[in-house]
Amino acid sequence: PTPRGDQRVAVIGLGRFGTSLAAELMRRGWDVLGIDENARLVQKYSDSLTHAVVADGTDSEALAQLGVDEFSSAVVAIGTDVEASILVTSNLLEAGVPNIWAKAISRQHGRILERLGAHHVVLPEHEMGERVAHLVTGRMLDFI
Ligand code: ATP
Repeated sequence: PTPRGDQRVAVIGLGRFGTSLAAELMRRGWDVLGIDENARLVQKYSDSLTHAVVADGTDSEALAQLGVDEFSSAVVAIGTDVEASILVTSNLLEAGVPNIWAKAISRQHGRILERLGAHHVVLPEHEMGERVAHLVTGRMLDFI
């Protein structure tokens, strides 16, 4: 299916989280621009994403050149490097991207991203841990 104008998303960070997310968005017919500073990863995913580009997301000019300010959504899928996560989120906010999703690796990291102004913060390990606890107790109804 041809994506509508608003079905474009930039995913910064092509680790396990970013690539799983990007693949699912592609399956749903979205346009996905994948960005990573690691050329090997970009090469690996270049055939499966709409566009895959080598760039440093902490470089606001590089993001501007990629037209990231035109995107309605962006996901910061960088965890381990908290400083990079904060800088990339800040760049996207300054570029005026209206829906910024950011992944955090700790509650403190998540709080910083929220205070910065990220529109949605996800904590994959914490949230999945809670979810599995519900699955273990058989209380799936909580998630329907
Ligand atoms: P995951 O758990 O999703 O595999 P992670 O939480 O361990 O990832 P990182 O390994 O820190 O997260 O980062 C994910 C990806 O983000 C890596 O492929 C890394 O190259 C990329 N990345 C880190 N910093 C930047 C940056 N400044 N610009 C672009 N990409 C970056």
